[in-house]
Amino acid sequence: MRRIGIIGAGQAGLYLGISLVDAGYAVTLFSEFTPESILNGKLMATPNLLPDALQLERQLGLAFWDDQFPGCNQLCNDVCDSDGNLALVVSSTLERCWQAVDQRLKFSCWMQEFVRRGGELVIRTMTPRDLEECVQNYDLVVVSTGRGSLKTLFERDAQRSIHGKPKRHLAAVIVTGLKGESMAEHTIKLTTLPGIGEIFQFPFYDKSKNSSHTIFFEAHPGGTMDRFSQIQSGQQLLEVSKKLMEQLTPWDYEVIKDMELTDELAWLRGVITPTVRQPVGRLPDGARVMGIGDAVILNDPIAGQGANNATKMAHLVVQRIIDHGNRRFDESWMQAVFDEFWEYCQYANALADCLLTPPAHLQELVVAMAQNPEVARDYINGVNHPPSLFPWFFEPEETKKYLAQKNTKGVGSDYSTSQLSQTQLLVRAR
Ligand SMILES: Cc1cc2nc3c(=O)[nH]c(=O)nc-3n(C[C@H](O)[C@H](O)[C@H](O)COP(=O)(O)OP(=O)(O)OC[C@H]3O[C@@H](n4cnc5c(N)ncnc54)[C@H](O)[C@@H]3O)c2cc1C
Repeated sequence: MRRIGIIGAGQAGLYLGISLVDAGYAVTLFSEFTPESILNGKLMATPNLLPDALQLERQLGLAFWDDQFPGCNQLCNDVCDSDGNLALVVSSTLERCWQAVDQRLKFSCWMQEFVRRGGELVIRTMTPRDLEECVQNYDLVVVSTGRGSLKTLFERDAQRSIHGKPKRHLAAVIVTGLKGESMAEHTIKLTTLPGIGEIFQFPFYDKSKNSSHTIFFEAHPGGTMDRFSQIQSGQQLLEVSKKLMEQLTPWDYEVIKDMELTDELAWLRGVITPTVRQPVGRLPDGARVMGIGDAVILNDPIAGQGANNATKMAHLVVQRIIDHGNRRFDESWMQAVFDEFWEYCQYANALADCLLTPPAHLQELVVAMAQNPEVARDYINGVNHPPSLFPWFFEPEETKKYLAQKNTKGVGSDYSTSQLSQTQLLVRAR
């Protein structure tokens, strides 16, 4: 039986580990934390899983929360003008639900499930020296430690990493007590404030198995929203969140003004510099390990791709491990699997880059989305599979052709409230 060692019990490592155990491999998963300490620990991220990745989880029998929490079937994007006034509303039904489950609940359950299915779980914070030992004992060692320190084993790919510093400063809270909570029960809401940032609000299945909400800020560094750097507690972030929404999205303030944290650790703040790394890591003794997930393709969460990429990459790695039979997992095999994944993932990265630094033609597209529900639907559902957005979303000339096919112009070079009546937009009563 072939032996696989996996470092990191997150989205990529757990999906990979459970799949390989099911496929008959002897798998050891090294995690720095126990399931209990993950469950009782701090919020790490607030990912929405999209339909294709959810389907992969379901095929593995890991969708433990589908019945209680199906997720969202509607996305609504309030787009403000440069003065902060609501200018456009883009809204679409989601063809299949998106779902956000607290990673603390998910990972702690999946770790137990991994052991139940026959995997070996070792609680240890792994170092490069530990990896050298691992390489002796396993046919393949995969590093899926996310943003953890082992990522430095993988050299930065300067060509594919276009950002040298974070484009947004991030903060999120998990909350309960929103007014009219049931109204927004199945809706992901995004507010875009040009030059200031983005605010996401969506239903969230929290670690206590209750349907709560997350409010997640993506602030332009140094801008009005960027007030997170000194925050030391969830209560402080909660208060700052309320003040920001009162100031920036007063139309939403009534809904959130009495919100409370679901638990004292249900908050995060941080920064991410989007980075692509080489997939083959070199250990001090010269041995090779393979990187997957955030360890090698790290994105700002603005386009909601990281956890989805982690799952899809892990899924591909499983297929290629099986295909490889009893042959050696050498450097060229690792590189080939990564290159195959990059064929897909380059579009996920391009999408995130586009949203972080919107090109001029995006404005035309956003106006078109507000005018024509078909355009909104193509974009919003395309986020699930970013190659479907190519080339029409990314290239200005192709955007023009695409809009012509849809008989839509995307009028106006600037958002203005007067466009609301011109384009007969759907503006919900507030
Ligand atoms: C605020 C926020 C919102 C997000 N929203 C979305 C979204 O909407 N959609 C989306 O797809 N993605 C989103 N993401 C990104 C997503 O959470 C990550 O891309 C995803 O979790 C990456 O999976 P991973 O397995 O690579 O890493 P992780 O899930 O981070 O797992 C890494 C694991 O490795 C462990 N580890 C680290 N170092 C060591 C070590 N030395 N030894 C042993 N174990 C170690 C860690 O404890 C952790 O459990 C968001 C991220 C943030 C921060």
